[in-house]
Amino acid sequence: MPDTMTDDAPLTTSKDQSRAVDEATDALIDPQNKYHSEGFAEQKQEWPGLQRDMEPVPDCGERTYRGTGRLKGRHALVTGGDSGIGRAAAIAFAREGAKVAINYHPKEQPDAEDLKAVLAEDGTDLVLLPGDLTDEQFCLSLVDDAREQLGGLDLLVINAGYQQARKSIAEITHEQFDRTMKTNIYAMFWMSKRAAEFMPPGSAIINTASVNSFNPVEDLLDYATTKGAIEIFTKGLAKQLAAKGIRVNAVAPGPVWTPLQISGGQLEGKIEKFGQDTPLGRAGQPVELAGLYVTLAEQTNSFTTGSVFGANGGTGVS
Ligand code: NAD
Ligand code: MG
Repeated sequence: MPDTMTDDAPLTTSKDQSRAVDEATDALIDPQNKYHSEGFAEQKQEWPGLQRDMEPVPDCGERTYRGTGRLKGRHALVTGGDSGIGRAAAIAFAREGAKVAINYHPKEQPDAEDLKAVLAEDGTDLVLLPGDLTDEQFCLSLVDDAREQLGGLDLLVINAGYQQARKSIAEITHEQFDRTMKTNIYAMFWMSKRAAEFMPPGSAIINTASVNSFNPVEDLLDYATTKGAIEIFTKGLAKQLAAKGIRVNAVAPGPVWTPLQISGGQLEGKIEKFGQDTPLGRAGQPVELAGLYVTLAEQTNSFTTGSVFGANGGTGVS
Protein backbone atom coordinates (compact mmCIF):
# COMPACT_ATOMS: atom_id res chain seq x y z
CA MET A 1 0.00 0.00 0.00
CA PRO A 2 1.66 3.30 -1.01
CA ASP A 3 1.79 6.05 1.56
CA THR A 4 2.17 8.85 -0.92
CA MET A 5 0.33 10.13 -3.97
CA THR A 6 1.48 11.22 -7.38
CA ASP A 7 1.73 14.92 -8.21
CA ASP A 8 -0.01 14.39 -11.50
CA ALA A 9 -3.17 12.73 -10.16
CA PRO A 10 -5.92 13.06 -12.78
CA LEU A 11 -9.38 14.63 -12.64
CA THR A 12 -10.81 17.28 -10.33
CA THR A 13 -8.94 19.99 -12.16
CA SER A 14 -9.97 23.09 -10.22
CA LYS A 15 -7.43 25.87 -10.59
CA ASP A 16 -7.80 26.46 -6.85
CA GLN A 17 -6.21 23.16 -6.04
CA SER A 18 -2.88 24.51 -7.22
CA ARG A 19 -2.56 26.80 -4.20
CA ALA A 20 -2.82 23.92 -1.79
CA VAL A 21 -0.17 21.92 -3.64
CA ASP A 22 2.34 24.27 -1.99
CA GLU A 23 1.53 22.45 1.22
CA ALA A 24 3.84 19.72 0.06
CA THR A 25 6.75 22.15 0.40
CA ASP A 26 5.95 22.78 4.09
CA ALA A 27 5.70 26.52 3.40
CA LEU A 28 3.34 28.38 5.74
CA ILE A 29 0.08 29.27 3.98
CA ASP A 30 -2.43 31.84 5.20
CA PRO A 31 -5.70 29.91 5.79
CA GLN A 32 -7.71 32.91 4.60
CA ASN A 33 -6.64 32.35 1.03
CA LYS A 34 -5.26 28.83 1.04
CA TYR A 35 -8.33 27.75 -0.99
CA HIS A 36 -10.94 29.45 -3.12
CA SER A 37 -11.86 32.69 -1.35
CA GLU A 38 -13.49 34.82 -4.02
CA GLY A 39 -17.16 33.89 -3.87
CA PHE A 40 -18.84 31.43 -6.20
CA ALA A 41 -20.69 31.62 -9.49
CA GLU A 42 -24.39 30.95 -8.92
CA GLN A 43 -25.03 27.33 -9.98
CA LYS A 44 -27.68 24.70 -9.49
CA GLN A 45 -27.85 20.96 -10.17
CA GLU A 46 -30.59 18.40 -9.73
CA TRP A 47 -30.22 16.43 -6.45
CA PRO A 48 -27.84 14.82 -5.55
CA GLY A 49 -25.45 16.79 -7.78
CA LEU A 50 -22.07 15.76 -9.15
CA GLN A 51 -18.96 17.44 -7.91
CA ARG A 52 -17.21 16.88 -11.25
CA ASP A 53 -19.69 19.45 -12.71
CA MET A 54 -19.18 22.12 -10.04
CA GLU A 55 -17.23 25.29 -10.65
CA PRO A 56 -14.79 25.25 -9.00
CA VAL A 57 -14.54 21.48 -8.46
CA PRO A 58 -14.32 20.88 -4.68
CA ASP A 59 -10.86 19.98 -3.43
CA CYS A 60 -10.97 16.63 -1.65
CA GLY A 61 -7.20 16.25 -1.47
CA GLU A 62 -6.79 14.33 -4.71
CA ARG A 63 -3.51 16.13 -5.45
CA THR A 64 -2.43 17.07 -1.94
CA TYR A 65 -3.27 14.57 0.77
CA ARG A 66 -0.20 12.58 1.74
CA GLY A 67 -0.46 9.60 4.06
CA THR A 68 2.05 8.23 6.54
CA GLY A 69 0.50 4.86 7.36
CA ARG A 70 -1.64 6.06 10.27
CA LEU A 71 -4.47 3.62 9.39
CA LYS A 72 -2.50 0.62 8.20
CA GLY A 73 -4.46 -2.61 8.58
CA ARG A 74 -7.83 -0.84 9.03
CA HIS A 75 -11.07 -1.54 7.13
CA ALA A 76 -13.30 1.48 6.50
CA LEU A 77 -16.78 2.10 5.13
CA VAL A 78 -17.58 5.73 4.29
CA THR A 79 -21.14 6.73 3.32
CA GLY A 80 -21.47 9.67 0.96
CA GLY A 81 -17.92 8.79 -0.06
CA ASP A 82 -18.24 9.75 -3.72
CA SER A 83 -18.04 13.49 -3.17
CA GLY A 84 -17.43 16.29 -0.73
CA ILE A 85 -16.41 15.59 2.85
CA GLY A 86 -16.85 11.81 2.59
CA ARG A 87 -14.64 11.68 -0.49
CA ALA A 88 -11.93 13.62 1.34
CA ALA A 89 -12.14 11.15 4.25
CA ALA A 90 -12.02 8.19 1.84
CA ILE A 91 -8.91 9.55 0.07
CA ALA A 92 -7.17 10.23 3.37
CA PHE A 93 -8.05 6.80 4.80
CA ALA A 94 -6.80 5.03 1.67
CA ARG A 95 -3.54 7.00 1.64
CA GLU A 96 -3.09 6.27 5.36
CA GLY A 97 -3.13 2.58 4.49
CA ALA A 98 -6.75 1.51 5.17
CA LYS A 99 -8.84 -0.65 2.87
CA VAL A 100 -11.81 1.52 1.92
CA ALA A 101 -15.36 0.99 0.67
CA ILE A 102 -17.72 3.85 -0.17
CA ASN A 103 -21.48 4.04 -0.40
CA TYR A 104 -23.30 6.63 -2.50
CA HIS A 105 -26.62 7.03 -4.28
CA PRO A 106 -26.72 5.24 -7.68
CA LYS A 107 -27.15 8.63 -9.40
CA GLU A 108 -23.63 9.50 -8.25
CA GLN A 109 -21.86 6.71 -10.13
CA PRO A 110 -19.72 9.18 -12.20
CA ASP A 111 -18.23 10.84 -9.08
CA ALA A 112 -17.64 7.41 -7.54
CA GLU A 113 -15.84 6.17 -10.63
CA ASP A 114 -13.71 9.33 -10.74
CA LEU A 115 -12.61 8.61 -7.19
CA LYS A 116 -11.90 4.98 -7.96
CA ALA A 117 -9.64 6.15 -10.81
CA VAL A 118 -7.82 8.65 -8.56
CA LEU A 119 -7.07 5.95 -5.98
CA ALA A 120 -6.18 3.40 -8.64
CA GLU A 121 -3.34 5.77 -9.58
CA ASP A 122 -1.97 5.14 -6.08
CA GLY A 123 -2.34 1.39 -6.58
CA THR A 124 -5.37 1.26 -4.25
CA ASP A 125 -8.57 -0.63 -5.02
CA LEU A 126 -11.63 1.29 -3.81
CA VAL A 127 -14.73 -0.86 -3.19
CA LEU A 128 -17.91 0.72 -4.61
CA LEU A 129 -21.19 -0.13 -2.84
CA PRO A 130 -23.97 2.05 -4.32
CA GLY A 131 -27.51 2.07 -2.92
CA ASP A 132 -30.23 4.08 -1.23
CA LEU A 133 -29.72 4.63 2.51
CA THR A 134 -33.37 5.46 3.16
CA ASP A 135 -34.01 1.70 2.92
CA GLU A 136 -33.42 -0.25 6.14
CA GLN A 137 -32.63 -3.56 4.47
CA PHE A 138 -30.10 -1.86 2.22
CA CYS A 139 -28.37 -0.22 5.20
CA LEU A 140 -28.02 -3.56 6.98
CA SER A 141 -26.71 -5.36 3.92
CA LEU A 142 -24.34 -2.47 3.16
CA VAL A 143 -22.57 -2.95 6.49
CA ASP A 144 -22.42 -6.71 5.91
CA ASP A 145 -21.18 -6.32 2.32
CA ALA A 146 -18.47 -3.88 3.35
CA ARG A 147 -17.29 -6.28 6.05
CA GLU A 148 -17.20 -9.15 3.60
CA GLN A 149 -15.52 -7.31 0.74
CA LEU A 150 -12.93 -5.57 2.90
CA GLY A 151 -12.19 -8.62 5.00
CA GLY A 152 -13.40 -6.87 8.17
CA LEU A 153 -14.90 -3.59 9.36
CA ASP A 154 -13.39 -1.48 12.14
CA LEU A 155 -14.01 2.04 10.89
CA LEU A 156 -17.46 3.34 9.97
CA VAL A 157 -17.96 6.91 8.77
CA ILE A 158 -21.65 7.80 8.68
CA ASN A 159 -21.45 10.90 6.55
CA ALA A 160 -24.26 10.83 3.95
CA GLY A 161 -26.74 13.64 4.39
CA TYR A 162 -29.84 15.16 2.83
CA GLN A 163 -30.37 18.94 2.98
CA GLN A 164 -33.04 20.95 1.17
CA ALA A 165 -33.44 24.59 2.18
CA ARG A 166 -36.96 26.01 2.65
CA LYS A 167 -37.86 29.49 3.83
CA SER A 168 -40.70 28.34 6.03
CA ILE A 169 -42.07 25.26 7.78
CA ALA A 170 -45.09 25.72 5.50
CA GLU A 171 -42.93 24.72 2.53
CA ILE A 172 -41.53 21.54 4.10
CA THR A 173 -43.58 18.62 2.80
CA HIS A 174 -44.14 15.40 4.70
CA GLU A 175 -42.04 13.64 2.04
CA GLN A 176 -39.08 16.00 2.48
CA PHE A 177 -39.25 15.79 6.28
CA ASP A 178 -39.43 12.01 6.13
CA ARG A 179 -36.53 11.70 3.71
CA THR A 180 -34.33 14.03 5.74
CA MET A 181 -35.02 12.00 8.89
CA LYS A 182 -34.47 8.66 7.12
CA THR A 183 -31.20 9.67 5.44
CA ASN A 184 -29.64 11.55 8.33
CA ILE A 185 -30.97 9.74 11.43
CA TYR A 186 -32.54 6.37 10.62
CA ALA A 187 -29.69 5.22 8.38
CA MET A 188 -27.24 6.17 11.16
CA PHE A 189 -29.28 4.10 13.62
CA TRP A 190 -29.60 1.09 11.29
CA MET A 191 -25.92 1.02 10.33
CA SER A 192 -24.55 1.67 13.83
CA LYS A 193 -26.76 -1.04 15.29
CA ARG A 194 -25.58 -3.62 12.76
CA ALA A 195 -21.90 -2.65 12.95
CA ALA A 196 -21.90 -2.67 16.77
CA GLU A 197 -22.81 -6.36 16.66
CA PHE A 198 -19.41 -7.35 15.32
CA MET A 199 -16.94 -4.44 15.28
CA PRO A 200 -13.87 -5.47 17.29
CA PRO A 201 -12.48 -3.49 20.25
CA GLY A 202 -10.36 -0.63 18.90
CA SER A 203 -12.90 0.21 16.19
CA ALA A 204 -14.27 3.70 15.59
CA ILE A 205 -17.54 5.15 14.36
CA ILE A 206 -17.41 8.73 13.09
CA ASN A 207 -20.60 10.68 12.35
CA THR A 208 -20.88 13.93 10.46
CA ALA A 209 -22.77 16.53 12.48
CA SER A 210 -22.84 20.26 11.62
CA VAL A 211 -22.74 23.77 13.03
CA ASN A 212 -26.53 23.26 12.74
CA SER A 213 -26.26 20.69 15.54
CA PHE A 214 -25.78 23.62 17.92
CA ASN A 215 -27.32 26.65 16.24
CA PRO A 216 -29.92 26.02 13.50
CA VAL A 217 -29.91 28.07 10.32
CA GLU A 218 -33.53 29.21 9.98
CA ASP A 219 -34.12 27.87 6.46
CA LEU A 220 -32.80 24.38 7.35
CA LEU A 221 -35.36 23.42 10.00
CA ASP A 222 -35.71 19.70 9.24
CA TYR A 223 -32.01 19.26 8.45
CA ALA A 224 -30.86 21.12 11.57
CA THR A 225 -33.19 18.94 13.65
CA THR A 226 -31.41 15.83 12.37
CA LYS A 227 -28.01 17.35 13.01
CA GLY A 228 -28.98 18.05 16.62
CA ALA A 229 -30.01 14.41 16.87
CA ILE A 230 -26.70 13.21 15.42
CA GLU A 231 -24.78 15.14 18.07
CA ILE A 232 -26.78 13.56 20.91
CA PHE A 233 -26.79 10.08 19.29
CA THR A 234 -22.99 10.28 19.02
CA LYS A 235 -22.57 11.10 22.70
CA GLY A 236 -25.13 8.55 23.85
CA LEU A 237 -23.87 5.70 21.70
CA ALA A 238 -20.30 6.41 22.83
CA LYS A 239 -21.40 5.74 26.42
CA GLN A 240 -22.97 2.41 25.41
CA LEU A 241 -20.18 1.20 23.15
CA ALA A 242 -17.35 2.10 25.52
CA ALA A 243 -17.93 -1.31 27.09
CA LYS A 244 -17.19 -2.92 23.72
CA GLY A 245 -14.07 -0.83 23.12
CA ILE A 246 -15.68 1.02 20.21
CA ARG A 247 -15.22 4.79 20.12
CA VAL A 248 -17.91 7.08 18.66
CA ASN A 249 -17.19 10.70 17.73
CA ALA A 250 -18.43 13.28 15.23
CA VAL A 251 -17.09 16.05 13.05
CA ALA A 252 -19.21 19.20 12.88
CA PRO A 253 -18.45 21.17 9.71
CA GLY A 254 -19.33 24.77 8.95
CA PRO A 255 -19.87 25.85 5.33
CA VAL A 256 -17.94 23.53 3.00
CA TRP A 257 -17.99 23.65 -0.81
CA THR A 258 -19.76 20.42 -1.86
CA PRO A 259 -22.59 19.17 -4.14
CA LEU A 260 -25.02 19.19 -1.20
CA GLN A 261 -25.02 22.98 -1.32
CA ILE A 262 -25.70 23.43 -5.02
CA SER A 263 -28.40 20.76 -5.31
CA GLY A 264 -31.02 22.35 -3.07
CA GLY A 265 -29.01 22.84 0.13
CA GLN A 266 -29.10 26.64 -0.17
CA LEU A 267 -31.91 29.03 -1.07
CA GLU A 268 -31.58 30.64 -4.49
CA GLY A 269 -29.09 33.52 -4.57
CA LYS A 270 -27.09 32.30 -1.56
CA ILE A 271 -24.35 30.41 -3.41
CA GLU A 272 -22.39 33.47 -4.48
CA LYS A 273 -21.51 34.46 -0.92
CA PHE A 274 -21.53 30.92 0.49
CA GLY A 275 -19.16 30.72 3.47
CA GLN A 276 -17.88 34.27 3.14
CA ASP A 277 -19.33 35.27 6.49
CA THR A 278 -16.95 33.02 8.45
CA PRO A 279 -14.08 34.77 10.26
CA LEU A 280 -11.69 33.21 7.70
CA GLY A 281 -13.82 34.90 5.02
CA ARG A 282 -14.42 31.85 2.84
CA ALA A 283 -16.04 28.44 2.64
CA GLY A 284 -14.00 25.40 3.57
CA GLN A 285 -12.88 22.75 1.11
CA PRO A 286 -13.49 19.08 1.96
CA VAL A 287 -9.76 18.29 2.17
CA GLU A 288 -9.50 20.65 5.13
CA LEU A 289 -11.57 18.17 7.19
CA ALA A 290 -9.77 14.99 6.14
CA GLY A 291 -7.22 15.18 8.94
CA LEU A 292 -9.96 15.33 11.58
CA TYR A 293 -11.49 12.08 10.33
CA VAL A 294 -8.08 10.40 10.35
CA THR A 295 -7.40 11.68 13.86
CA LEU A 296 -10.70 10.32 15.17
CA ALA A 297 -10.12 7.00 13.39
CA GLU A 298 -6.60 6.22 14.54
CA GLN A 299 -5.86 4.41 17.77
CA THR A 300 -3.48 7.09 19.02
CA ASN A 301 -6.52 8.99 20.28
CA SER A 302 -7.86 6.05 22.26
CA PHE A 303 -9.25 8.21 25.10
CA THR A 304 -11.35 10.36 22.76
CA THR A 305 -14.94 9.20 22.49
CA GLY A 306 -18.35 10.86 22.73
CA SER A 307 -16.96 14.13 21.39
CA VAL A 308 -17.81 16.46 18.52
CA PHE A 309 -15.07 18.37 16.71
CA GLY A 310 -15.72 21.52 14.69
CA ALA A 311 -14.22 22.67 11.40
CA ASN A 312 -16.01 25.88 10.60
CA GLY A 313 -13.67 28.72 9.73
CA GLY A 314 -13.90 30.24 13.18
CA THR A 315 -17.63 30.80 13.62
CA GLY A 316 -17.37 29.74 17.25
CA VAL A 317 -20.22 27.28 16.83
CA SER A 318 -19.57 23.76 18.25
P1 NAD B 1 -22.08 15.75 -0.60
O1 NAD B 1 -23.25 16.06 -1.47
O2 NAD B 1 -20.78 15.59 -1.23
O3 NAD B 1 -22.35 14.45 0.25
C1 NAD B 1 -23.61 14.04 0.68
C2 NAD B 1 -23.74 12.60 0.26
O4 NAD B 1 -24.89 12.02 0.88
C3 NAD B 1 -23.95 12.40 -1.23
O5 NAD B 1 -22.74 12.35 -1.93
C4 NAD B 1 -24.69 11.07 -1.27
O6 NAD B 1 -23.79 10.06 -1.60
C5 NAD B 1 -25.18 10.87 0.15
N1 NAD B 1 -26.61 10.58 0.20
C6 NAD B 1 -27.63 11.43 0.39
N2 NAD B 1 -28.80 10.77 0.35
C7 NAD B 1 -28.50 9.46 0.11
C8 NAD B 1 -29.27 8.29 -0.03
N3 NAD B 1 -30.60 8.29 0.07
N4 NAD B 1 -28.62 7.13 -0.29
C9 NAD B 1 -27.28 7.09 -0.40
N5 NAD B 1 -26.50 8.18 -0.26
C10 NAD B 1 -27.11 9.35 0.00
O7 NAD B 1 -22.04 16.90 0.48
P2 NAD B 1 -21.20 17.06 1.84
O8 NAD B 1 -21.39 18.47 2.21
O9 NAD B 1 -19.85 16.53 1.72
O10 NAD B 1 -22.04 16.22 2.89
C11 NAD B 1 -21.47 15.26 3.72
C12 NAD B 1 -21.97 15.46 5.14
O11 NAD B 1 -21.49 16.70 5.63
C13 NAD B 1 -23.49 15.51 5.29
O12 NAD B 1 -23.89 14.76 6.40
C14 NAD B 1 -23.75 16.98 5.52
O13 NAD B 1 -24.94 17.18 6.26
C15 NAD B 1 -22.53 17.35 6.31
N6 NAD B 1 -22.26 18.78 6.39
C16 NAD B 1 -21.94 19.47 5.26
C17 NAD B 1 -21.72 20.83 5.37
C18 NAD B 1 -21.36 21.64 4.15
O14 NAD B 1 -21.33 22.87 4.25
N7 NAD B 1 -21.09 21.06 3.02
C19 NAD B 1 -21.81 21.47 6.59
C20 NAD B 1 -22.14 20.73 7.72
C21 NAD B 1 -22.36 19.38 7.61
MG1 MG C 1 -22.19 13.00 -4.01
